[in-house]
Amino acid sequence: MHLLIIGGSDAGISAALRAKECKTATRVTVLVADSFPNFSICGLPFLLSGEVPDWRTLAHRTIEEIEREGIHLRLKHRATYIDPVNKTVTATNDSKQTHLIEYDKLIIATGAASVQPPIEGLGLPGAFALRWMRDAFAMEQYITEHRPKSAAILGSGYISMEMADALTRRGLSVSVLARSGSVLKTVDAEMGEMIRSNLHKHGVRVIDHVAVTSITQEGEKLVLKNHTEALLAVDLVLIATGARPETDVAQTAGVSMGIHGAIQVSLAMETNISDIYAAGDCVETRHRLIKGPTYMPLGTTAHKQGRVAGENAVGGRTEFGGSLGTQVVKIFDLVVARTGLRDHEAMGEGFEPLTVQSESWDHKAYYPGATKVRIRITGDRKSHRLLGAQMVGSYGAEVSKRIDVFATALFNGMKVEDLSHLDLSYTPPLGCPWDPVQIAAQAWAKNQDVSKS
Ligand SMILES: Cc1cc2nc3c(=O)[nH]c(=O)nc-3n(C[C@H](O)[C@H](O)[C@H](O)COP(=O)(O)OP(=O)(O)OC[C@H]3O[C@@H](n4cnc5c(N)ncnc54)[C@H](O)[C@@H]3O)c2cc1C
Repeated sequence: MHLLIIGGSDAGISAALRAKECKTATRVTVLVADSFPNFSICGLPFLLSGEVPDWRTLAHRTIEEIEREGIHLRLKHRATYIDPVNKTVTATNDSKQTHLIEYDKLIIATGAASVQPPIEGLGLPGAFALRWMRDAFAMEQYITEHRPKSAAILGSGYISMEMADALTRRGLSVSVLARSGSVLKTVDAEMGEMIRSNLHKHGVRVIDHVAVTSITQEGEKLVLKNHTEALLAVDLVLIATGARPETDVAQTAGVSMGIHGAIQVSLAMETNISDIYAAGDCVETRHRLIKGPTYMPLGTTAHKQGRVAGENAVGGRTEFGGSLGTQVVKIFDLVVARTGLRDHEAMGEGFEPLTVQSESWDHKAYYPGATKVRIRITGDRKSHRLLGAQMVGSYGAEVSKRIDVFATALFNGMKVEDLSHLDLSYTPPLGCPWDPVQIAAQAWAKNQDVSKS
């Protein structure tokens, strides 16, 4: 049995490892377009900031470690065509040689690509996207050779935030151009304002409601314009306006596409074509709460979906549990996290949401270093079911693990009040007898009672 996998990042390698684990005798081949299989692209901002000094350490596993598992890697092989009738994939290598590879089962794990907004001049030297190792190498080389002093980041999502931090650490003066007028739109405006003040505190300028239509090289500078009006002149530009599913090769097989142009899959990660599975950033994902498809390109999801696809491709019968959109980002000394639905999203899904904000110490205030954690809980007024949570706190306040308590509760359909009964850990340097998660749940329940009376 030959399992062929297109794509060698989070989803593709997870699939390969799981397939080998479940059926050791399976012949597994992974086609990888570049020469960086299983690299943590999530770590690129920290490589560029200088916090991670050596790019090689970004590898989740080395090539040798992957091959030791009996997985055959074909690096610098780009799949260009899938023939599902004859069960073959055409791939072209770096020297433009074409190979026809037969498969019994195929997994498409081609990931995503950076969105290229319709802006003239994106190809100019000094203008970058950040998705691949090669993007990071190119930006690093530019920074080393040209010593830029200023940067503009287009977009205000989590990659923009991480890169604002990274480039500031490298000594650049950074401006974030937020077209929508809010930073990190994935959390409520109340939290967005805290992020904005934190950016200002660290010298990052946020410019709202700007639409860049072109970038031009004028002398040493890259000038960002809205039509003829010059908005800003900088030395480096980063386009961080989102990701789109990479489905070119999937389309050649006639695979059905769904939301945002991502590949439609079942919970078993099967496509509509027999013996072809797909996983990761190239597919739509099922939202566990809304029970419908959504597009959430995240490394956490890609790993899980890859594992499901790998197991099923070799005869297993497992299903992906669904996404809740649990995310966390560190911006300088601040950590911002969310899971589940926000108020307006819950309303859109037919719930009757109530969102309540609370603030409490991350650990006992008498023990040095205590900081406040702000939490917003969204629950359903009728059923009291937890629908979502957002959190902001300082680095070291365990924000990411506390959002994971909410994610676990959401996954299991718990009511907000149930959080108070959880037996969570406590010692004064690390927590409080009532954890901030529980204080937030109690604040929600209290508000719910008030709003009823
Ligand atoms: C800067 C940055 C920071 C991020 N930070 C986080 C984070 O903190 N947390 C988080 O959860 N997620 C984060 N993400 C998202 C996360 O990296 C992705 O969700 C994850 O990498 C998706 O994995 P994937 O395997 O589906 O696809 P990808 O990582 O996109 O990999 C696709 C693979 O397919 C290969 N490929 C594509 N087309 C072909 C072809 N035709 N033939 C052969 N090979 C092909 C590529 O070479 C690559 O190996 C971040 C992303 C970026 C860019």
